[in-house]
Amino acid sequence: MKTFVTGFPRIGEQRELKFALEKYWKGEVPFSEVEEVAETLKKRHWKYQKDANIDAISINDFSLYDTTLDTMIALGLEPQSHQDIDDDTERYFAIARGDKEHRALEMTKWFNTNYHYIVPVLDETTDKPVNIDKIKAEYQAAKAEGITPKINLIGPLTFIANAKNSQGEDAPFDAYEKVMQKYEALLELIAKLDEKIIVQFDEPVLVTDKAAELAMLTKDAYTRLSNAAANAEIYVITYFDHATEAVKALCTTPVVGIGLDFVYGAENKEVVKDIADAGKKLVAGVIDGRNVWISDIYAKVSLLEEIAKDIDKEDIIVSTSCSLLHVPFTLKYEEKLDSEVKSWLAYAVEKLGELNLTAKCFFGETLNTEEQALLEANRQANQSRRNSQKIHNPDVQARMETIASLQKKRIPFEERIVKQHAKFNYPPLATTTIGSFPQTAQVRQTRRAFKNGEIDEATYIEKMKAFTKECVAWQDEIGLEVLVHGEFERNDMVEYFGEQLDGVAFSQNGWVQSYGSRCVKPPLIYGDVSRPSPMTLFWSTYAQSLTDKPMKGMLTGAVTILNWSFVRDDQPRSQTCYQISFAIRDEIDDLQNAGIEMIQVDEAAFKEGYPLRKEKRPAYEDFALKSFWVSTNVAKETTQIHTHMCYSEFNDIIQTIEAMDADVISIETARSGNVLLKVFARTGYKHEIGPGVYDIHSPRIPSVEEMVEQIEALLEVLPARQLWINPDCGLKTRGWAEVKPSLENMVKAVKIVRESL
Ligand code: GLN
Ligand code: ZN
Repeated sequence: MKTFVTGFPRIGEQRELKFALEKYWKGEVPFSEVEEVAETLKKRHWKYQKDANIDAISINDFSLYDTTLDTMIALGLEPQSHQDIDDDTERYFAIARGDKEHRALEMTKWFNTNYHYIVPVLDETTDKPVNIDKIKAEYQAAKAEGITPKINLIGPLTFIANAKNSQGEDAPFDAYEKVMQKYEALLELIAKLDEKIIVQFDEPVLVTDKAAELAMLTKDAYTRLSNAAANAEIYVITYFDHATEAVKALCTTPVVGIGLDFVYGAENKEVVKDIADAGKKLVAGVIDGRNVWISDIYAKVSLLEEIAKDIDKEDIIVSTSCSLLHVPFTLKYEEKLDSEVKSWLAYAVEKLGELNLTAKCFFGETLNTEEQALLEANRQANQSRRNSQKIHNPDVQARMETIASLQKKRIPFEERIVKQHAKFNYPPLATTTIGSFPQTAQVRQTRRAFKNGEIDEATYIEKMKAFTKECVAWQDEIGLEVLVHGEFERNDMVEYFGEQLDGVAFSQNGWVQSYGSRCVKPPLIYGDVSRPSPMTLFWSTYAQSLTDKPMKGMLTGAVTILNWSFVRDDQPRSQTCYQISFAIRDEIDDLQNAGIEMIQVDEAAFKEGYPLRKEKRPAYEDFALKSFWVSTNVAKETTQIHTHMCYSEFNDIIQTIEAMDADVISIETARSGNVLLKVFARTGYKHEIGPGVYDIHSPRIPSVEEMVEQIEALLEVLPARQLWINPDCGLKTRGWAEVKPSLENMVKAVKIVRESL
């Protein structure tokens, strides 16, 4: 075995699975149609890998919704709450998505990716016999295609670490014994599938800070699993960071191979020798499974040579750094991308070719003519990437030279805020919103018509002005104190800015599964980023011209743009982040000079970018913070900077939030009452805060009374002077029928509370 692919995307190169599932859910087609599509896709994906000479091709990496859910089914650990549904298919999708009588299980992010898995609740599961049906069917289908399948399973440690119990506690390792017995039983069945079996256990939890404390269980689990299936070659695969602690434990077990990520865990080089000494195979993840840029084949071969100093070449299997689930399918359908930019890209299918070439060069095999041509194309593309003017912009680089002088806070908050109060004179408990207003069918249709050339720019602007005008007038009328323009011109908070920045491209078909049938198409930040012209000035100044109240400018922060994009890998992420922060800085300056003097810089994805390893967090926080300062310290002392973050786990980053030094932060708290605010109070947070007083994710209209209560609860924690009152996120997913009464009630609630102050 020389080449190994951790896993392959499953949604289909034209999102075939998505469309089949969605039709089935709408009742338009029978389930058999989904199954047919699934069979076609599996075969196609195996063939892609087989054609690229991949030796270890996965089965069971395919899923109709999510592989953690599939694991629950295979282990017989299904949620009890859904057992009244007899039909297996209906039950499966009811667990995943909910139905009229059942709620869906919670979903959460798969480590630091944008893939979301379904969270098992381990003290509320069935104790059904293990179920090998899906694995067996895929195994046999793959064999019929002439493939020696590798069976992918989520490893028991990761499965438990990603679960919770009904009290909401994470990683309920008290369920370890129960879960392990299921895994053993499953492996016993798997062992019967064939004379010799290859099994891959995915254990990304072993790259997190939990790895050290899991050492004993790691040893126990993989000793037991090896014993449960004597004819199985077991590979334990880790990814997304280094697994140095776990390697030591794994080396004491009978597993055949250990997978390490050498793209995101360079530290892994230190433990190669341990693997060699233990006589294990090393699955060396060198082809980036998470990003879309071409590999430099020569550099990858050198990396492998370096690794091979500590282990025999014959014991190395060349692999992707992680499953290719996190990259789009194939460049085949990218017809509009600039051809030079396209030559720098490799999606999943192209990565298979890179893997094959890298392995062949590393093992000294002769290349056929086609492979020789590919290698030459790779060399040229890398050269153009190093030199192209599309990537390297001297103006941006010159400006980057000045960055150090800008990596600092504004004058002290205490001094600014006094001047801001004097200038804006807003009352305690000032009311505002987070930015967007309902994206009605009309709004979306107008944007689409303009994009497709069905209406001209003048017509488009006129229509968008009408939406904005109506929205501003209504906010004014109900008595909100700080208004917003409504963001009608924006499709998405990152895409809107990405489309206006140089150095950023958009693919046509670069879809990546986010959860279930949902896919996202992240922008491609391929080169030095700059802002050729103002991005929001037109709409903000137009909106300000309609009212005497302060109009809040609305920007997406650099860190969020970075974290929701595919970011170039030929310079540190921090550099790219700083380049974006310059663009935001210039926008803030343009806005304040045009009279927009409250400006919100949204950092919805600030927390998402945190590295998995504690040791790497300070470096991230350092550039994330400084980028925010670079963007915002252009603001005059009387320009008020707001920020917004929409998640509620602040406990571990509260110091960093404070250090961002935004004058006002609005946060999601509606579902947790005043609990979160207490965290801010405890740390002596001085800046102003707008804790969301109602949950915009629900269609429910909150009453005046309940918001009065909510505000009073907030006042128990922080003084009115420090508090703003707003919903907990943007309103774009809601309809006006919900938004109008909700905000009217919010304003009324504030009036009532203010009277009693
Ligand atoms: N200003 C954005 C909006 O209101 C913020 C979105 C977000 O936080 N996700 O939609
Ligand atoms: Zn939000």
